[in-house]
Amino acid sequence: MGRRTIFTGTFVHTPTSNDLQILENAAVFVDENGKIVHIDENATSNTARLRHDLADWSGAELIYSHENEFFFPGFVDTHIHASQYPNAGIFGKSTLLDWLTTYTFPMEAALADKTRARDVYGRCIARTLANGTTTAAYYATRNVETTNLLADLCLKAGQRAFVGRMCMDQNSPKWYVDETPEASIAAAEESIAHCLKVDPERRLICPIITPRFAPTCSAKLLKGLGDLAERGKLPVQTHVCENEAEVKWVQELFPESTSYTGVYNTAGLLTERTILAHAIHLKKEEIQLIKEKNVKISHCPVSNLALTSGCAKVKALMQEGIKVGLGTDMSGGYSPSILESVRQATLVSNVVALTDGPGAKLSMAEALYLGTQGGAEVVGLGHKIGSFEVGKEWDAVLVTLGKVPEIPVEPEPEPVPEPMDTDESSESKETENGVLAEIEVNSIDEKKPAANGVNGSKDATVTNGVKATNGINGAKGPNASNGTKTATGTTDTGAEEEDAKPKIDDGIIDSAVDIFGWENWEEKVAKWVYNGDDRNTTAVWIAGREVYRQGGILVTWPIDATA
Ligand SMILES: [Zn+2]
Repeated sequence: MGRRTIFTGTFVHTPTSNDLQILENAAVFVDENGKIVHIDENATSNTARLRHDLADWSGAELIYSHENEFFFPGFVDTHIHASQYPNAGIFGKSTLLDWLTTYTFPMEAALADKTRARDVYGRCIARTLANGTTTAAYYATRNVETTNLLADLCLKAGQRAFVGRMCMDQNSPKWYVDETPEASIAAAEESIAHCLKVDPERRLICPIITPRFAPTCSAKLLKGLGDLAERGKLPVQTHVCENEAEVKWVQELFPESTSYTGVYNTAGLLTERTILAHAIHLKKEEIQLIKEKNVKISHCPVSNLALTSGCAKVKALMQEGIKVGLGTDMSGGYSPSILESVRQATLVSNVVALTDGPGAKLSMAEALYLGTQGGAEVVGLGHKIGSFEVGKEWDAVLVTLGKVPEIPVEPEPEPVPEPMDTDESSESKETENGVLAEIEVNSIDEKKPAANGVNGSKDATVTNGVKATNGINGAKGPNASNGTKTATGTTDTGAEEEDAKPKIDDGIIDSAVDIFGWENWEEKVAKWVYNGDDRNTTAVWIAGREVYRQGGILVTWPIDATA
């Protein structure tokens, strides 16, 4: 079991669509099981932060966000092909059907090699975690052994994952196809059994039935997988109406069906646990069917633009009451980042608005919702993750934005040669901008929390922010936080005011998001949405466990994945 942790500072989330909530000076109490047990939305002082049942929370770790940092719910990628990670960015001018044969089938077939699969899957998990993806609905390959390896690796890394063995028994290369529907179903069952064995309570890993898409699946296979989903009450993921040529092909292959979506319905594959990716070229009757069956949609804007598939009318689907989340669809999509999908979702909706009117536009808040709470609902975990609420699990990202250094008002005096004497006073160090000042700041901050009354919780362990603790970026350490506290009038010691003097390099990280200091929180979030990347991900937690910190993954989930 982990330890109790109090996260404090700024929290940003979208508990409902188009509702960007920013909680400044809040505190979220996470118990040893990774559950949020209390949220103090007005923790304006350290005393207030610990107001909640002090005795019980002594010994808890305290992690706080600094000025220009915020906690955000982990992203949910509702559609990603882990096996295609090496091809991210490689798509040329292809469209879906030639992209599959040129790039995708050969890459997936090559992952029958366990060493190669370990490398590809390991890197995919590391990269998605670095981008803040705490939950992923993964497509693997036909190969059972390495699909199972993907489940093991997700478990080991602590990433929440739906792991699907790819089922396909027709219209595929001879060297990459299931021989019969029965063989395909048996292989799917084998992989399902493995997932349920390594994580019987489905705490992190859940098997997902994965017919590739209707053209590569016989009616018999689709029906068999539908039965399997019904028997095990298991989730299903597949593709629908991605590309016009594909839709036409499905009509030819399944002439008895009136629509592409109808093919899946006939097979019993449409339930509330089904995720259909793309849904660009849907007929009206298909939208009604999706709505009736409470099927979920994975919107993959990056892929849809990259493969010239089209622009899904997401806002219209949402207005129908259909639940939508975002998918990277890597490597149809070139990026493993849901943040990239968030920004592209808004841009795709702007393109739709050119023909359908401004009502088709997704706001930034709506797109962030699709990437978190919306995605959580798509994968059936809306009650467990996706926003910060009591009773949910702590799946979160600490986002750090880069602060632009203040420009000195007065011109710099003539440069003075570096003093040779290293025994200078701490006061003179503070006036400098360099490394020495940083060291001084950190050493002061080690002592500071005692003066803040945090030690009122007896033996509460105070962590001076994740980065400072880790020593990765002491420069932007607790001092920035002090500045915030002073500004909000919560400082209760004179010593803190002394510490609060701005340092030129406070909050600077190497990132594309430059914060000048005059932005409000909504503007800061917007700058992150449109310019941010994995450099802004400082740390990631899943079910309360820290699973990523910039610079390397910490494996913290104590389950033997080698079994
Ligand atoms: Zn896909």
